Amino acid sequence: MTAQILDGAQLAKDMRAAIAQQAAALTARGHKPGLAVVLVGEDPASQVYVRNKVAACEQAGFHSEMHRLPASTREADLLELVRTLNDKPDVHGILVQLPLPAHMDSHRVIETISPEKDVDGFHISNAGLLMTGTPLFRPCTPYGVMKLLEKSGVPLRGAEAVVIGASNIVGKPQAMLLLQAGATVTLCNSKTRDLAAHCRRADILVVAVGRPRMITGDMIKPGAVIIDVGINRLPDGKLCGDVDFDSAKEVAGFITPVPGGVGPMTITMLLQNTLEAVERSI
Ligand code: NAD
Repeated sequence: MTAQILDGAQLAKDMRAAIAQQAAALTARGHKPGLAVVLVGEDPASQVYVRNKVAACEQAGFHSEMHRLPASTREADLLELVRTLNDKPDVHGILVQLPLPAHMDSHRVIETISPEKDVDGFHISNAGLLMTGTPLFRPCTPYGVMKLLEKSGVPLRGAEAVVIGASNIVGKPQAMLLLQAGATVTLCNSKTRDLAAHCRRADILVVAVGRPRMITGDMIKPGAVIIDVGINRLPDGKLCGDVDFDSAKEVAGFITPVPGGVGPMTITMLLQNTLEAVERSI
């Protein structure tokens, strides 16, 4: 069997075109969507992520604000900036790029963002709303995975879904979204015994660990949907996922490539969350 590719790059392109149209309509009514991105320090990966987010906003016709602060910034000054952005009517979404410098308490910073503008969905009240089944914002990466699953057409209700990796930003919210969609969810972590046995039961397998090619074709149920969230840089500079694409595609029914799968969806869902924030604010 050769799996169908779930093309995140194409889906992201289609969704961004629709988002740009909605943004234009909102702008015409005097509600131009606005996103503020805050970057503290010089982390090279964060600089790339932030640049891509700001560029995506501009392409979609959003107002975007970039706030760059030196690594030596006092936490109190960062909190002050966040409070200022909370009060700005032309800013609907606020994103503080993580990780923050070691002298800052990232929980305190995230809790200072107004929950109504927390487009990453990391604020504790948004995590609670997701947990209780009434999400305000869905964290961007798991939200993008749900759109890819929707695209596959595979029913989630009653499906066996296995999520590998239990981080606060990917694995845990992913498990909640799948549960809400009616799947029977297993959430695995680094202590899980016999990971392969869990994987082989999965109709839907979402892998978010950060270990190159750890899931191989022999661990996959024939016909399963495989979503590879992992992004790993190999010694030769190329990117690869947590799934061994070559062996997995021979067994799976659907599979996301890396790059070009989940990655392009994450920023798209940030735009989507910002639009949702505007609509709620009107
Ligand atoms: P993390 O390091 O915070 O969490 C990793 C999780 O994997 C932990 O829960 C840990 O218990 C689990 N784990 C570790 N080893 C394991 C093993 N052998 N078996 C089972 N579980 C194991 O990572 P994260 O922030 O969730 O990111 C995971 C991966 O996803 C990384 O490669 C990251 O770069 C990528 N990522 C991609 C996107 C995207 O847009 N595509 C977004 C976020 C993260």
